[in-house]
Amino acid sequence: MQLRKVNLPKRLASALPLPHLCALLIAIFLLAFAFFMPDTPSNDTSLNDSSISFNTHDDQQDFSQDIRLDAEFSDIFHDENVLTFEHEVALEVVETAQEEPGIVRYSIEAGDTLSSIFDKFEIGQTIMHQILAADEQVLALDIIRPGHHLTFRKDLETSDLLEMEFFIHAGNRVIYRRVDDTMFEFEELINPGVWEQEIIAGEIYGSFYVSAIRAGLTKSEILEVNKLMSEQIDFNRQIQAGDRFQIVRSSQRVDDEHTGQSTIEGIRLQQNRTTYTAFLFEDGNYYDAKGESLTRAFRRIPHDQNFRISSPFNPTRLHPVTRRVAPHNGTDFAMPIGTPVVSIGDGVVTRVENHPFAGKYIEIQHGSTYKTRYLHLNRQLVKRGDTVKRGQRIALSGNTGRSTGPHLHFELHVNGRPVNAMTANLPMALSVPREQLAKFNQRVEQLVSVMEVASQEQIAMRSQNANQPGS
Ligand SMILES: [Zn+2]
Repeated sequence: MQLRKVNLPKRLASALPLPHLCALLIAIFLLAFAFFMPDTPSNDTSLNDSSISFNTHDDQQDFSQDIRLDAEFSDIFHDENVLTFEHEVALEVVETAQEEPGIVRYSIEAGDTLSSIFDKFEIGQTIMHQILAADEQVLALDIIRPGHHLTFRKDLETSDLLEMEFFIHAGNRVIYRRVDDTMFEFEELINPGVWEQEIIAGEIYGSFYVSAIRAGLTKSEILEVNKLMSEQIDFNRQIQAGDRFQIVRSSQRVDDEHTGQSTIEGIRLQQNRTTYTAFLFEDGNYYDAKGESLTRAFRRIPHDQNFRISSPFNPTRLHPVTRRVAPHNGTDFAMPIGTPVVSIGDGVVTRVENHPFAGKYIEIQHGSTYKTRYLHLNRQLVKRGDTVKRGQRIALSGNTGRSTGPHLHFELHVNGRPVNAMTANLPMALSVPREQLAKFNQRVEQLVSVMEVASQEQIAMRSQNANQPGS
């Protein structure tokens, strides 16, 4: 698995000056002209050019600001969002893209499954199985939903599938690439983009939910705020009209596009003379202003007995047959079928799935930083959306999926990356360690200063409204 910057599709519609647009129109016309000409060597070249952004192997360093025209083209070719462009040019571009030999791009629609999509594009079950085998390492394909895209690249002569790209959001794509007749390999492309801090402030009328939506929080962010503050205050019962909140959020942007990924960095609720707070520290945990933990500690092992580790976490494991690097993203515990499996921390069940290679598995999200997965289960005892406690039984271990014997494969992800759960720096402590306190206080100071500005504005607004006649 490699970290790379990727030149991702851009929205054409958003900000293209008129002269550029004209140039583009002419260029499109010329390209379309070339496209319908009889086969010539130069024609082949132009087709290769248009697949530059798809084949991300090449020139990764070329990530500069000055975008060449052909690069712009390839962006357009791979971006269906251009449909929002109000001119008919957009439609023309998309049609050309669909006619580009060997490459098909598909936007996931409600109700689609991977197998229904493969049927639609006449890609056989064997190929799907090979892709799912590669997907076992990332488990990306279990979450396809509207907004995601799949791009297929087929061999022009044999029409065999050579590559499939799964576009999750502007910061995250997975490419499944054919190795030989029997297997695919995957490459996950992560573009960290930039994270921008913003303040969201509001005053409560009715419920916190309604007020927070109006202020600009998403539903899932509201749930997170509720959960983080639940040890201090019940947001459903103890909130009063006139309470004020300030929330510092950071959101990810890649190439000027929001990816939909966000993190709550700080929360402050002011009720009469009492202030409730939560601050995210660099260890991924939330603390109050004094540095006392708001999220409970984790346990290290997802079962209650002393089972042997049959295969440790290993990011550079060589596949015994292919000799390729096939990372082992988890820790395997040899245990008899039917052994109770427990969650290592408080969290929310985000997946209860059955994958042909991972078998029956469960995924649990613990706050915004940590995520755990439990694979090859015999029986899942929780449902998607359930809240679980540290140490709670969530499943019985098994031998489902591609498994050579009864065992539990256990994964821990920190900020979306698998790490060794046996050695990772998990929050076991209940407060910020003393030697980190100065750093923590500095962070709190920064967040509070942002909140304070918003709070002063809120107070100013309030007195302004009060001074208006009839209000
Ligand atoms: Zn394993």
